[in-house]
Amino acid sequence: MAQEKSMAIPEFLSKAELIKQGAEARVYRAEFLGKPTIVKERFPKRYRHPVLDEKLTHRRTVQEVRSILRCRRAGISAPVVYFVDYTSHCIFLEEIAGSSTVRDHIASTRQSDCSKELGWLAERVGQILAKMHDEDVVHGDLTTSNMLLRHQEDGESELFLIDFGLSYISALPEDKGVDLYVLEKAFLSTHPNTETLFERLLKSYAVASKKSSSVIKKLDEVRLRGRKRSMVG
Ligand code: AMP
Repeated sequence: MAQEKSMAIPEFLSKAELIKQGAEARVYRAEFLGKPTIVKERFPKRYRHPVLDEKLTHRRTVQEVRSILRCRRAGISAPVVYFVDYTSHCIFLEEIAGSSTVRDHIASTRQSDCSKELGWLAERVGQILAKMHDEDVVHGDLTTSNMLLRHQEDGESELFLIDFGLSYISALPEDKGVDLYVLEKAFLSTHPNTETLFERLLKSYAVASKKSSSVIKKLDEVRLRGRKRSMVG
């Protein structure tokens, strides 16, 4: 849209709908070049030294874009990156319209007593994470809020990964094991009594990933360390 091209980003964002105010970034919904768009704006943190803050913010923006592109190249569903502005630290992303977070989906399905239907979703999550780790992308903030489920007209659902702000590239099984450990902690605290469901997720990860045995071994080590730490504490 011609009007958007000439508009400065702060002016563009002032007209957008703020949907989340986080500690590190604001998330907006807007229309960009005629497309429903999500804009993620990382703002300066006053408590940090300005030079360090600029470096960190720049790095996170670069990492987020790099990981999304790497995932998409490998056929992993993540939003299309429409535009990046490294001055205002804004990423313009495809809005996954008609989607809900996996967190909300699990919560509402469990409430309606259809928990058995969640097995396929746990397997799908295991598979997508296996593919992501096989590409050496470590997400860094895996939670069920950072996964979107788009329900299609044919009844099928497509699973997307979002929020790669803490992601990085690593081939180390330890990094991938910690990634799964972070998810396990978040999963079981957000969705109590879902140990069996999470085990199903891990099983499907183990089957789908080419390098799963060393990752699961590391996950077990990290779990053990976590348990020892909580016993001491
Ligand atoms: P984030 O800070 O990236 O986790 O985004 C915060 C919230 O905005 C998410 O929990 C989603 O509800 C929504 N969101 C983020 N990215 C998208 C997207 N590409 N499409 C649709 N909704 C999104």
